[in-house]
Amino acid sequence: MSYTFIKHASELLTVKGHSEHPATKDAMNNLHIIEDGAVLIKDDQIVDVGSTEKLERQYADLLDHASVIDAKNKVVAPGLVDPHTHLVFAGSRENEYNLRLQGAKYMDIMAKGGGIHATTRSTRLASAEQLYAESRPRLDSFLKHGVTTVEAKSGYGMEWEVERRQMEVAHQLNADHPIDIVSTFMGAHVIPEEDKAHPDRFVDELIEEMIPRTAELGLAEFNDVFCERGVYTPEQSLRILEAGKKHGLVPKIHADEIEPYGGAEIAAEVDAVSADHLLKVSDRGLSMMAHKGVVGVLLPGTAFFLMTEAANGRKMIDAGVPVALSTDRNPGSSPSTSMPFMINLASLTMGMTPAEAIVGATINAAHAIKRADRIGSIEAGKKADLVIWDIPNHMQFTYLYGVNHTETVIKNGRVVVDKGVLV
Ligand SMILES: [Zn+2]
Repeated sequence: MSYTFIKHASELLTVKGHSEHPATKDAMNNLHIIEDGAVLIKDDQIVDVGSTEKLERQYADLLDHASVIDAKNKVVAPGLVDPHTHLVFAGSRENEYNLRLQGAKYMDIMAKGGGIHATTRSTRLASAEQLYAESRPRLDSFLKHGVTTVEAKSGYGMEWEVERRQMEVAHQLNADHPIDIVSTFMGAHVIPEEDKAHPDRFVDELIEEMIPRTAELGLAEFNDVFCERGVYTPEQSLRILEAGKKHGLVPKIHADEIEPYGGAEIAAEVDAVSADHLLKVSDRGLSMMAHKGVVGVLLPGTAFFLMTEAANGRKMIDAGVPVALSTDRNPGSSPSTSMPFMINLASLTMGMTPAEAIVGATINAAHAIKRADRIGSIEAGKKADLVIWDIPNHMQFTYLYGVNHTETVIKNGRVVVDKGVLV
């Protein structure tokens, strides 16, 4: 049994009270801050939270044996949660980025066999060992940015053996790395080049073979589909998500990124846990999501990197949609592992306050992967996943933008990043 005591945080952001339902509207703007705050951790769990004075008095005997972390002039926050990544893949596409900067359009690059097709080719050729070796440093980078849980999607195989390999590598990384990884099957990422002429045949294969196998082998909890013109139609998306549900996989959806296409509406219809992207979501879709409590996962780094207008986070929060944030870490449209930068962008490009952005990157993000009972806030009984930021108040997190303020990361009660360095 070991105790850790974090004390004298200038601001302790508890983000409490939303373990059952995500924060919405005004509640998203309340971090439930304790000044001069303290947290008592026993092994991997949070035991108590309060003012330093109160906890020091209450646990005087016990604290002699605790390892103590002084967070004076620092902010203590829940470990960040990234609910949407394409973590496991092979290769890198900086060459396309360079072409885009010189005026090439993503769709033209894709038509010439680049884009997602390039990553599919390199991922299909990669062994499990290579996928592991390329993905693990991405996790290290997440951790150094204060991220303690990530979701990871398959979807660069679009043939069973490769999809399985991606998910197995995610499971292996989950076992080996401090970060917890939550796995999603996303065979429906694009229509594979070889099935362009008969997309429904591939949809049948997803439904009849890949989804049942994924569920049977326990390789994923969620089932995701890219619902967009030229990718999967609303009808196909609905079939794929319903099929996943039949096998116990919870629906997620890439929705309304390029045009209003009915993705948000489908998310509400199938009781998806989240609808992601939403740059062009319809008002009807938004109100349906709000009604059902579907989390809107916004990916401000993707819009930034593709040099397009960001999703309207402000409007979604005002409409009652619980909003979460994510990096969308992937080799094409968002190669960043910086959740702190996403929090910055949420404020600078989506009209969200610093508090709303932090709620979006913690408790609401935890809801988007069905983990809010365990993580996403600093409350007694939750897992001891915390970060210490080297700033005196949370406003500075977005004010001093583009900087990684992460000093210490505590995962499962253990210090895994110390003074910005992996332990
Ligand atoms: Zn994505």
